Amino acid sequence: MSIAENIQQVRETIAAACVRAGRDPASVTLIAVSKTRPVEMILAAVAAGVQHFGENRVEEAESKIPQVNVAATWHMIGHIQSRKAKDVLPLFNVVHSVDRFKLAEKLARAVVERGGRLDVLIEINISGEESKGGLPAFGWQTDPAVRAAVWDEIRQISALPGLKVRGLMTMAPIVPTMEAARPVFVGLRELRDHLSASLGVSLPELSMGMTDDYPVAVEEGATMVRIGRAIFGER
Ligand SMILES: *Cc1c(COP(=O)(O)O)cnc(C)c1O
Repeated sequence: MSIAENIQQVRETIAAACVRAGRDPASVTLIAVSKTRPVEMILAAVAAGVQHFGENRVEEAESKIPQVNVAATWHMIGHIQSRKAKDVLPLFNVVHSVDRFKLAEKLARAVVERGGRLDVLIEINISGEESKGGLPAFGWQTDPAVRAAVWDEIRQISALPGLKVRGLMTMAPIVPTMEAARPVFVGLRELRDHLSASLGVSLPELSMGMTDDYPVAVEEGATMVRIGRAIFGER
């Protein structure tokens, strides 16, 4: 199948999940995750109507994004070392992987120097898997210490100048069936609802769902899905 056919199929799958959940398909943004893919493949996705791309490494993005050279929205979805924070700004429109205050502070300082504003999501580790990045939030529903730590961190990040916290991002663990990932997506949505209500901030975006689990993520409220292999093939 061609990249265009794959994109068509992904869009149809998103639309079907929206029908099941009573959602408007226009409320879900498809982000094509183009990490490791050559510029030609990205341009094929652009030609098929994709406007949002995700990359996970600053160095790779520095060489690829200028070459792509078309109007697109670039999403940083990978771990960012604090010393690289300033390099993110000229490349990306949205950062999904803000997972600690120290990084947020570095990004905020760079935004203020440069002028303007940066849309960010807070990456959350919902499942408690040690190998996963994200602000640790496993047990927030029942453990007051975890809850206090999560609330404090997000309150501090939200107060930084130059950053607009738009919502939350998570990665589900690798599980045998996509149904097994559902509790993680429900957990992220519930955390968003509680944070939003108690901090009095609007957090409209939920970035969740990848090739193996995005239909379930959309059923549970994803507003951004990050899809690599279903569009570009196996890495
Ligand atoms: C690679 C990656 C994706 C896309 O994964 P696929 O399984 O190829 O769809 C999504 N999100 C993040 C953070 C990634 O690193």
